[in-house]
Formats: sequence, structure tokens, C-alpha cells
Amino acid sequence: MNALETVNRYVLEAAKTLKLDEALTRFLMTPDRQLRVEIPIIRDNGKLEVFIGYRIQHNDARGPFKGGLRYHPDVTDSEVCALASLMTWKTAIVDIPFGGAKGGIQVDTKQLSLLELERLTRRFTDVINPIIGPNIDIPAPDVATNEQTMAWIMDQYSRSHGYTPAVVTGKPVSLGGSEGRGAATGLGVAFCTREACRTFGIELKGARVAIQGFGKVGSHTAISLRDMGAKIVAISDVSGGRVNQQGIDLKEALELQAANGSIQGLHGGDSVSNADLLTTDCDVLIPAALEDVLTEKNAHAVKAKLIVEGANAPSTFEADEIFEKRGIHVVPDVLANAGGVTVSYFEWVQNLQQFRWELSEVNERLERRMVQAFEAVKAKAALHQTTLRRGAFLLGLERVADATKLRGF
Ligand code: GLU
Repeated sequence: MNALETVNRYVLEAAKTLKLDEALTRFLMTPDRQLRVEIPIIRDNGKLEVFIGYRIQHNDARGPFKGGLRYHPDVTDSEVCALASLMTWKTAIVDIPFGGAKGGIQVDTKQLSLLELERLTRRFTDVINPIIGPNIDIPAPDVATNEQTMAWIMDQYSRSHGYTPAVVTGKPVSLGGSEGRGAATGLGVAFCTREACRTFGIELKGARVAIQGFGKVGSHTAISLRDMGAKIVAISDVSGGRVNQQGIDLKEALELQAANGSIQGLHGGDSVSNADLLTTDCDVLIPAALEDVLTEKNAHAVKAKLIVEGANAPSTFEADEIFEKRGIHVVPDVLANAGGVTVSYFEWVQNLQQFRWELSEVNERLERRMVQAFEAVKAKAALHQTTLRRGAFLLGLERVADATKLRGF
């Protein structure tokens, strides 16, 4: 099953357990609005090129649509639909007043100059302008987009609406971004790992952690977990990875990444491919890159006792079934990586208040929210004697269905 089939299967299962009406279930599985756009830009060589982009708004029963914008050559409408749906459940699970959306542009950012990327982003902002806004839909960074991308969107949108920082989150701090937003997803993954270790009787101190992906999510997850006493034994990025049972030198990895945009050349241990990292010897596995990397082909070979999904939809439905049978615990994406959108919410609140919070306040609130969400998911799972993933979907669906019914159709 691909990511969309997988998420719809979880939604369907939860809807059945909750005995939701069939039409309501279908409504909750289908995006409210799907926009596919052509984005023409003039390349630096003077030639015209047209890119395909999407903004898919899945559900806004609990508040404005919310979700990232991804730049990747493999972006498809089906993938964006799946990711938009996941945002709906994620925002409900951490109980922030947003719905779910996702956007994407089919582009390899490495092939574009900075000026071309800026033109692409500004043009995309113009074409989605009518359907975004602080009370409508609030984009944010995702794979291969960053604070600079958000700054361009904010600026472009503000040209037609006046200064509107709350139209996007994940902005640079100097432009109304929140302290702590950059590290938030990774820190949230680390909080969930800590809570899961407590729950399942794994000693976090000295626990061997393997992390696939050393970008916005993976790098901050690694730092936060190391600070909590875990031992990071494997990391990787698109260039490949490194496994070292003595512990990865994170300082060197961060320096290499800052200097070259990649961890290539990291010393110590052995090199490992992105695929082999998933089945490397470790206690905790954290996929923090792309979707569908854990499948029925490699799920049997996973050695970790605990998987914490830093990425969105890294496990297929079949892989998840195998993990359940094998007694491997999984903290699902909709809970594990919700720290990012949680601090996005804090950023939006600060923008609306025109007031700034200090880093300590952001991180304290993030920790409280993540622990509360973890406890709520755990309680739901216990009540239904099921996995954390099913517990999470039950909690999310219940909240969204409730809001939908109360608002009326
Ligand atoms: N792209 C991130 C996610 O998948 C963050 C979304 C946001 O902050 O709106 O959760």
C-alpha cells in the first residue's frame, strides 16, 4: 500500500471502531479542496519552464487548514493527499486549533539557482493566494523548503494583503518566526522517544539510536536524544550514512553538514546505506526522511525494539502489521513528529498577538503538549487494547468527527 492507501486504511479502521456514519467516514477520508497548478518561471538561461504544484486542503473542522510545503521531484497528488490527511489527525492529536493541508512542487531544488527558487516560490504564492491566509490556510516548511522559502511567501502574500506574518509559519526569527521552531520537530520526536522508553521499559540512558535522515528533523532529534543520555549509533542523509556502535561524533556531523550540506566524510565506524541503516543493530530506530521506507520487504529484518516515526508515513500498512506481530512498538508519525506543527501554532499565536515568547517558554509549552498528547494516545490505545497508532487515529478521528458534527454540514 502506498502512503494514501495506508492512511485511509487507518482512518477506515478507526471510523469503524468509533461507529461513525458511512458518509461522514467518506467525508473525513476525502480532501475538502484539491488545487493543482502550473507554475511558469523564466530560468536564469532565459528559457521558460513550467512546474506542477499542489495545495491540498484536507479538513478544517477544528480550525484553519495547516501543513507544510514540500519541494521534491517525486511529489504527486496522491502523496500530497496522504500528507494533508495526516496533518488533520496530527493537529487534532496534539489538540491545536487547526485542520490539515499539504502542498508541494514537483522540483529538484538542486537543479535551481536561489533566484530561480525565489521566482518559483513567489509565483506559487500568487496562484495559491486566494486559498491561503491566517484564518484560512497556513503553509509551513517541509522536505526541501526552509525559513527562506517562508520569508518569500510571507513577503509575496503581504504585497496584496499588507504585512501578514501569520500567513506562514517556520519563518526566520527576525521576520516573526518563533524561537525554537527550527528544532521543534526533532525535540518533539525526542520527547516522544523518552515517553515511549518509559512506557515500554527501555532504558533511555545508553539506548542505541539509529536515525535515517539528518535534515531539519533528524539532526535535532539526534542532538536532543544525545542530550537526554541516548547513544546515537547510526545516521544518514541522501549521500549515505555511517554506523558506529561507539557513538557517532555528532559535532563533526553537524560541522560537515553546515560546511557541505552533507555528512559525507564523517569519521569513525563504517559506512552504511540508507536502506541498511533501517536494519542496523540498535534499540531505537527513527526514520526521519521520506515515506514508505519500511515495507514488508525489510520489516522482518528490523532489529530495534522501538520505532519512532520522525518522518511522515515512513511505514507501509504491511510493515506496521509485521511490527505489531513482532512486538516492536511504534510511535506513529501523527504523534511523534507533531512538535513541528505545535511550535508552528505557537508562532501563529505570537504573530496574532504581536508579542514574542522566549525560547524557554516555547520549549516548556512544547514539552507539556507532547507529553499530554502521548498520554492521551496511550490511554486511548489501552482502552481499546491496541497499538499507539490505532490509539492515535481513534483520538484524532473522534476529535475531528465531533467538531464536524457540532459545526454541522
Ligand atoms: N511539515 C511539518 C509537518 O509535516 C510541519 C507543518 C506545519 O508546521 O504546519 O508536520
